[in-house]
Amino acid sequence: MPIDQVTIVRMCRDCGTVIETLTVKKDNMRLFSDEEVWCPKCEANKPEIRDIAGRQESIAKEQQSYPESPTSGPPRLVHQE
Ligand SMILES: [Zn+2]
Repeated sequence: MPIDQVTIVRMCRDCGTVIETLTVKKDNMRLFSDEEVWCPKCEANKPEIRDIAGRQESIAKEQQSYPESPTSGPPRLVHQE
């Protein structure tokens, strides 16, 4: 199943309130933005932060798919004598 769309969550940088979620094409995805959003909790325009919705889930799925992947996680410390 091709996935060419991602769901972006826009949040208030100050309080973390989710302003909205939007679905965009991966090609148009921008996680960094200088835009300000109206935060109903702060009752002010605040800088936004963006994150990919369900990212933790997709990472977990990837790890299940490749449990032996040597590239995931920090390198193991192997003590050799
Ligand atoms: Zn806020």
